[in-house]
Amino acid sequence: MSKNTLLQSIPKVDKFIEQSDFKYLAKRVLLPLVREHFETLRTDIINDKITTLNKNKLCEEILIKYHHIMTPTLQKVINATGVIVHTNLGRSLINPESFDKAKEIATSYNNLEYDLEKGKRGERYSHLSSLFSKLLNCEDVLVVNNNAAAVFLILNTFAKRKEVIVSRGELVEIGGSFRIPEVMKNSGAKLVEVGATNKTHLQDYEENITERTKMLMKVHKSNYSIEGFSSDVKFKEISKLAKEKGLIDYFDLGSGHLVKLPYGLSNSEPSLYDIMKDNPSLLSFSGDKLFGSVQAGIIVGKKELIAKLKKNQLLRMLRVDKLTLSILTQDIQNMLLDKYEEIPTLNMLFKNIEELRKNANVLVEKIKDNVSYEIIDTSTLIGGGSTPNKKIPSIAVSIEIKNYSPNKIQKLFREKNIIGRVENEKFLLDFRTIDMNDLDYIAESIKCLATS
Ligand SMILES: *Cc1c(COP(=O)(O)O)cnc(C)c1O
Repeated sequence: MSKNTLLQSIPKVDKFIEQSDFKYLAKRVLLPLVREHFETLRTDIINDKITTLNKNKLCEEILIKYHHIMTPTLQKVINATGVIVHTNLGRSLINPESFDKAKEIATSYNNLEYDLEKGKRGERYSHLSSLFSKLLNCEDVLVVNNNAAAVFLILNTFAKRKEVIVSRGELVEIGGSFRIPEVMKNSGAKLVEVGATNKTHLQDYEENITERTKMLMKVHKSNYSIEGFSSDVKFKEISKLAKEKGLIDYFDLGSGHLVKLPYGLSNSEPSLYDIMKDNPSLLSFSGDKLFGSVQAGIIVGKKELIAKLKKNQLLRMLRVDKLTLSILTQDIQNMLLDKYEEIPTLNMLFKNIEELRKNANVLVEKIKDNVSYEIIDTSTLIGGGSTPNKKIPSIAVSIEIKNYSPNKIQKLFREKNIIGRVENEKFLLDFRTIDMNDLDYIAESIKCLATS
């Protein structure tokens, strides 16, 4: 075909998009896509890159592009990494029943800020205060968007243009863009670093208190630990010193938990109950780390201090919505009833090795004729900055596919939204985090990869 004939055979855009294949598609997406595609086509014909034109093929290409755009990029994945509180994979899972109740509330009008008794404006945060005070024996609570917001709000409210004393060993960076010194600077508070990286003593805090000091702050190290010649000051002592000097004591705990952790982890990680015994003026933690609920920053402490936080205009920018409040309320009720098996994160953490081994065997039964595998005793991490460097035992199934490296296999699984890990030259699916409802899908994917 001559170049000119070819160019003329490119359909008219308006006509082309009228065809039945495109009938139910979003024209606002389709139209620019077709225009752009035809433009490229024209250039390719002129440059002799294309010598024939097939309308069916053209239509197919357009449909592929269209569906690529219209498929949501935020998708379900299967976490087979073994890391329970995996920040990149959405952190703690929400309990489906809590979510269902939240759906009921969020899809109808509700009393989010309405006092049903008095028939007038109510308070958004009131829905949680009595439940939380029972759970943690605290005077009051405030919930904001996440724990980073909690830290920011607290520093901005109490320590703007004032000094906050923090140990040099606790100036942490928590993945992405959260660094204590940076957050503090942005909040308007002045950081006073005391002690050394490996050792800080109570005296270091005491000696650096001036008339500009407003707060003594402790930060959980979260994602690292200092081994060897090291020590830090217990929050209890910091809190006591602050109270003696008329200052605010604040503990940014990061990942707070309620239960006694298994595998001896409790020895190194005090629970929320332990810390509440020290009577903190302010304490904040994430809702979706080991606490196991929804994304939120939970601030508990003295009523008068929480009242000051509520008066800060910034709260309006950091506030949580009805979904968050509703899910959190449901979860706290479960916690008050000691129904920890209803909290997916804790459920995964407490699964014993025998159960994990049994689950791994269920998968193996489904795939044993299709692929080389091995059941492996391994270990994993809780994640989410809760117990840095502390391993917990787990069971994994390694998958081998002929002629493929472990990294290549990892990539092939990733294309099926199954995220595993490579360890000792093997690709592993770790059962600590695998939901058994996904097992058939995993087995089908394995068979598909093994035979392709
Ligand atoms: C995780 C963490 C934060 C940030 O909490 P988000 O809920 O992720 O905003 C702040 N401080 C510490 C110590 C943490 O571990």
